Amino acid sequence: MHDVQVRLADHAYAVSVQPGLLREVGPRLRLLSKANRVGVLTDTNVGPAYLPALRKSLGDAGFEAVDASIPPGEDHKSLADLLPVYDKFLGARLERSTPVIGLGGGIVTDMAGFVAATILRGVPLVQIPTTLLAMVDASVGGKTGVNHAVGKNLIGAFHQPVAVMIDTEVLRTLPPRELRSGLAECIKHDIIRDAEGFARLEREIDRALKLDVDYLTDLVAHNVAIKARVVEADPFERGERAHLNFGHTFGHAIETVMEYQYTHGECVALGMAAATFAAVKLGMFADDDRQRVLGVIEKAGLPTKAADLPVDRVIDGMSFDKKVRSGKVRFVLPDRIGHVVVRDDVPADVVRASVESLRG
Ligand code: NAD
Repeated sequence: MHDVQVRLADHAYAVSVQPGLLREVGPRLRLLSKANRVGVLTDTNVGPAYLPALRKSLGDAGFEAVDASIPPGEDHKSLADLLPVYDKFLGARLERSTPVIGLGGGIVTDMAGFVAATILRGVPLVQIPTTLLAMVDASVGGKTGVNHAVGKNLIGAFHQPVAVMIDTEVLRTLPPRELRSGLAECIKHDIIRDAEGFARLEREIDRALKLDVDYLTDLVAHNVAIKARVVEADPFERGERAHLNFGHTFGHAIETVMEYQYTHGECVALGMAAATFAAVKLGMFADDDRQRVLGVIEKAGLPTKAADLPVDRVIDGMSFDKKVRSGKVRFVLPDRIGHVVVRDDVPADVVRASVESLRG
């Protein structure tokens, strides 16, 4: 059992990580809330598998669960898909003190967070992430929202949870490709902040692929702690929280161009391969360390090459990225394993060569 504290200026909460925690959500929430009811948002994959256990635990602690379900997939991360959720929760007369729980992957936790931020001008939020990505990234830090036709995550709010409860047992049912996707963010965290953690990944990351729950529990807690420290230092993403975008400037552009071929984590993996190539080219990162990064990405079953990548379109895509400031594309690049810097002076030929390097 691990408890990671997230301490912000005006708010603190615990992220609890433990196999089997789903069965303890009710009594734990009872310590935080006197409400009679809770709103639960989930999706149609996760709900059938895990809602009964959650409902029982909540019921035993005296909470009646009002649940709403959305179809899975980014196409449904929209305001339109939230309207029936507001109808359900408002129709059931949820109150200001009624917690809203997000039970699902990052899509659900982002959407549940947005509902909690906006319904009745804000109600308590509890996150129960069920993908590795949502556990180590999306559910911690308070960024919530939905997509708009113009782009991803463009409608949203900062709304911190009162608690995050992570049951690592649920990773057993996660499709392997989704598990590997989450590992990309774990690799990212150690490259930006923790050289020792990275060395552990080199030795042990295959235990994640074997669904070793003890390993996964330690891995999730370690990554939540890294994310928590970054968020504490910069809750509203005005400075160093940008370090979490390592691999994402290239990665988002690849994702936009190759959306139906690669998952987000696979795009981040390719983005990290491109970013370390750029860092070596700029003379700020050792090629041996780049080989170590590529080695861990490959060990996690993630791609470091994309033979059919349309280079020009990826480069065009980068200038539309949210990380562009006053016309300059900003890259988060490592200067050693465990440390990154933000650069907005990467020459166009280095950017091009980095994208081309992914074609093999
Ligand atoms: P997801 O929510 O789409 O989940 C992936 C798939 O796995 C879905 O089909 C889901 O139904 C299924 N699933 C979830 N848990 C399962 C389980 N335990 N067993 C079986 N199936 C399960 O994808 P994701 O990768 O978790 O999240 C991606 C989203 O997260 C994106 O929309 C992204 O914008 C967001 N995100 C947000 C932040 C943030 O800081 N708020 C950070 C990173 C990503």
